[in-house]
Amino acid sequence: MSESHFDLIVVGAGPGGYVASVRAAQLGLKVACIEKEAALGGTCLRVGCIPSKALLESSERYEEVKNHYQVHGIDVLGVELNLDKMMARKNKIVKTLTTGIAYLFKKNKVKRYEGLGTLLGDGKVSVTKEGAEAQMISADKILIASGSYAANLPNIEWDGSRIGGSTSALSYPEVPKHLVVIGAGVIGLELGSVWARLGAKVTVLEYMDMAMPGMDKELSKEAVKIFKQQGMEFQFGVKVTGARVEGDQCIVQREGGEDVICDRVLVSVGRRPNTEGLGLENLGIETDRRGCIPVNDHFQTSVSGVYAIGDVIAGPMLAHKAEEEGVACVEAMVTGYGHVNYDAIPSVVYTHPEIASVGKSEEELKAAGTPFKKGSFPFKANGRAMALEAKEGFVKILAHAETDRVLGAHIIGARAGDLIAEVGVSIEFGASSEDIARSSHAHPTLAEIVKEAALAVDGRAINM
Ligand code: FAD
Ligand code: NAD
Repeated sequence: MSESHFDLIVVGAGPGGYVASVRAAQLGLKVACIEKEAALGGTCLRVGCIPSKALLESSERYEEVKNHYQVHGIDVLGVELNLDKMMARKNKIVKTLTTGIAYLFKKNKVKRYEGLGTLLGDGKVSVTKEGAEAQMISADKILIASGSYAANLPNIEWDGSRIGGSTSALSYPEVPKHLVVIGAGVIGLELGSVWARLGAKVTVLEYMDMAMPGMDKELSKEAVKIFKQQGMEFQFGVKVTGARVEGDQCIVQREGGEDVICDRVLVSVGRRPNTEGLGLENLGIETDRRGCIPVNDHFQTSVSGVYAIGDVIAGPMLAHKAEEEGVACVEAMVTGYGHVNYDAIPSVVYTHPEIASVGKSEEELKAAGTPFKKGSFPFKANGRAMALEAKEGFVKILAHAETDRVLGAHIIGARAGDLIAEVGVSIEFGASSEDIARSSHAHPTLAEIVKEAALAVDGRAINM
């Protein structure tokens, strides 16, 4: 095999691409991974999951020290925000994790190419980078993991400062006086929370009649109620038609309503699959109406030997979904078997309180005509939640009415993102709500709320 020929070329080093590269190398393949950005890790590590969670954590601590320590009998005076330091911490975490991937590539002998990967057909891929000579490499198989980019709306010009997407909102140089968030999806709620906690007035304009459309309705309603109590303002059924900068102000226009004046705008109306520059046209691969690359159960595209995973294909745009697909895809290449159970992929919104779901929502079960039972248990009836001063929220478990098999769980409350893992594993193992209810959960823990909700499916919660 020539030096520039590989068993597998992976295009994109986000959570989908870098995990697939490492797993393929573990399975004995000679792997190259092409990434156009200087830092590895994709949207998730550079400008997504990791920096947003760093800011969510810091801003939550700030808000907690300022407003909630008194209840524990701790008076804290003179609390001040040092935004530059908060941002520097976030940047340091990103740097540590992205360089960690370079280390993983070295350890697993994944050859890294820096530049834009363009598929040319017959297993050939060019790598181009401004100021450097183009390189030509080839492989028996190619895996596209090119991710996604933030969507915009017509008549909104991102000026890279006052009006922009999540990447700008991860690095505002000062706390906005009034931040308008367009879209009450995951990004809008997470980054809206960050800036609200740090002192901004936050107005969320959402097109639909609920936040996080698609999520279990009971959860969404409870979340909005809590976020409103925290000071965030929501306007539903609002169609934004444009936004512009005038001096140091932004004017947001909406259909049938008055303009909203603010000093920063976060556009968070979804993300689109990223296929630009990939050269799909050279291979005759067509995207679907949402711009996704269509694949079969083994993530193979319409062209033999060319695969795709992660945000660039259909399904929830989540880092762990991309990772599972990356692993399943390369395992199927080598062993003939690789599978992702989409019913067991959790989704978590890292607000305060956190919001987490796995499996089916009540609305989905009703629409499918699946008979189900539900059990709910509130955080306020749990001892540990009281000790934590985290009394908001509930756990809801949905199980099949006849077989008792767990079909879904929806949690709003402290550490919901960690609590949901137990139910995800239960779904993966085909467990019943009785299995969860009969498993011992340490006392006093928040995990006991999951157990009590499982008991409640059968009407026998103990502490309610
Ligand atoms: P990406 O991470 O987008 O990686 C694709 C990579 O491919 C990029 O680095 C890109 O530069 C590179 N690339 C593209 N085309 C080429 C080419 N032709 N040649 C070379 N390189 C190319 N998900 C979660 O699960 N949890 C979270 O908490 C979370 N928080 C988020 C917060 C924000 C603000 C955002 C924006 C997203 C968040 N997400 C979160 C979503 C998550 O980031 C994505 O689902 C995930 O990154 C998708 O992984 P991927 O590997 O498919 O694509
Ligand atoms: P989203 O799809 O979650 O939400 C977009 C929202 O914008 C929707 O509620 C939609 O109704 C609304 N919208 C669309 N057009 C509008 C208009 N003209 N006016 C007003 N509202 C409008 O998208 P997002 O929040 O941008 O996030 C993008 C992706 O990133 C999501 O798919 C999400 O999975 C992923 N992400 C995940 C996490 C996490 O897992 N914690 C965090 C951030 C982002």
